[in-house]
Amino acid sequence: MTRKRHHQLSHDIAKEYALFASEELDIKQMTRGDNPPAIYNKTALNRSSLDNMPAKLMGMIRYKVEETGGRHEEVETKKVKTSQRCPDCLVTKKKPLEVRHHDCTCGYAMKPDAASGLVMLRGLGVLHSRIETLLVV
Ligand SMILES: [Zn+2]
Repeated sequence: MTRKRHHQLSHDIAKEYALFASEELDIKQMTRGDNPPAIYNKTALNRSSLDNMPAKLMGMIRYKVEETGGRHEEVETKKVKTSQRCPDCLVTKKKPLEVRHHDCTCGYAMKPDAASGLVMLRGLGVLHSRIETLLVV
């Protein structure tokens, strides 16, 4: 992604949203040669991470959202466990990365990225209850 595209994307996000929440990105961990996540091809991830410059893009989004009076929040991924926690009952359950559907024993089921987003909103206090979570979906 080019720098020009970063500016356009960050501008579009800031124009559209008053709250931008993201997970912490540990770029050093993602691009370090030792102990990479097993699912990623280390070389491809390194190249992709460095070419896409996610840290710079996140920085652009942050300042543009705040410049328009919006709010950027970075969720502590290790604490909130966005990919393992159910947005409805808040129970955590480890899932292999290849599992591409959130399906909780409480009956709540949805695409995992949407579930992670709702978990972030609950973690930030934007959504306070199971009922609010159900109404968003
Ligand atoms: Zn649940």
